[in-house]
Amino acid sequence: MNIYQHPTFEMACQQFDLVANRLGLSDADRLRLKAPKRSLIAAVPVRMDDGSTHVFTGFRVQHHLTLGPTKGGIRYHPEVALGEVAALAMWMSWKCALMGLPYGGAKGGVAVDPRKLSHAELERLTRRYTQELIGFIGPHLDIPAPDLGTNEQIMAWMMDTFSVHAGHSVPGVVTGKPVGLGGSLGRREATGRGVAYLAGRTMDTLNLPANGATAVVQGYGNVGSVAAHSLARQGLKVTGVSDALGGVFNSRGLDLRQLDEWVAEHKTVVGFPESEPIGGDALLLLPCTVLVPAALERQITAANAGQLRCRILAEGANGPTTPEADAILSARPDIFVIPDILCNAGGVVVSYFEWVQDLQSFFWGEGEVMDRLFRLLEGAFVQTLNLSRHEQISMRLAALSLGVKRVWEAKVTRGLFP
Ligand code: GLU
Repeated sequence: MNIYQHPTFEMACQQFDLVANRLGLSDADRLRLKAPKRSLIAAVPVRMDDGSTHVFTGFRVQHHLTLGPTKGGIRYHPEVALGEVAALAMWMSWKCALMGLPYGGAKGGVAVDPRKLSHAELERLTRRYTQELIGFIGPHLDIPAPDLGTNEQIMAWMMDTFSVHAGHSVPGVVTGKPVGLGGSLGRREATGRGVAYLAGRTMDTLNLPANGATAVVQGYGNVGSVAAHSLARQGLKVTGVSDALGGVFNSRGLDLRQLDEWVAEHKTVVGFPESEPIGGDALLLLPCTVLVPAALERQITAANAGQLRCRILAEGANGPTTPEADAILSARPDIFVIPDILCNAGGVVVSYFEWVQDLQSFFWGEGEVMDRLFRLLEGAFVQTLNLSRHEQISMRLAALSLGVKRVWEAKVTRGLFP
């Protein structure tokens, strides 16, 4: 699997190997489970506003097809690479299986900084990328969704491009669409709300009162900002937040409504009045009850894991903690980790609800969506916690074991073709 060589893919494989050892999987089963089923790399030529042509590189990796179509987001970020996308696809597999969703994992992306493109360039890029994916995606094949750097508008263009090609409207080809186009109520907020729900649930488990509790959020994007607001609604003081350009801190708590106005105008949290600036690295080391990494992978490493001063690490991002950091955290009973595939699963769970609603052309109210979301999260949280306590293993190993085992059992039951 040399073509996938990348530090993030290596990390996903290292995590998988720990689970495979615990489950006692044979070498053959390990290979079957680890290898991404298929991948597509496409040159995506785009006419830029100045008349020039730029060729971007687009990816889509489908990790396994054993349990249904594949599912996972599309990332627009300058550092997107095949190996990173493959790792993220593998994590989607274990996440969907942990949550009991009838999907394999997938991920896609384009190596691009979307902030540097005009609205029109972004649309042309998205349409051409989608065109390159025709035949590789579809409501019963592979269903993209938003991820870092993409949003509802991009999903709307993807849905439109696919539908024009099909000759009729196909809302079920992507999730995270605008509600007016067959999107689900609650999808936009689902990941952040899920993070906050599980952080609150963990505080209950640990007997930590919300009164006096604090939260710090790395990455004030769609996931981080919603998680921050939801935690504030639960009574926590949000003392620090950051984005790609820097962070802000106020020990008395940041006024999130004013912060949102600032971000809407300045496109960054940096410079927010009534706060002190803080670097991204220092932000992770702030004392707090709940630390939410909600940005990129590999943020909590051997270099900083020993110095974290949170009580709960609620992983809003995918893969924020390296296996080396995990080893350090497992010797720190003062920190409770809510692992990524559980903590941020709210997004794909409501994506699943959106897909079901689209296939049935029958739409639910927001209360029903949220109710069902919290029920699924609660079930997965309790199963993971019970396994972790019963077997004396980390929450990550427990969550991954539940996910991997389900995919493994399905593969064994279906058998090997031919
Ligand atoms: N990109 C999100 C994730 O990493 C959502 C995927 C989806 O909704 O399909 O879980």
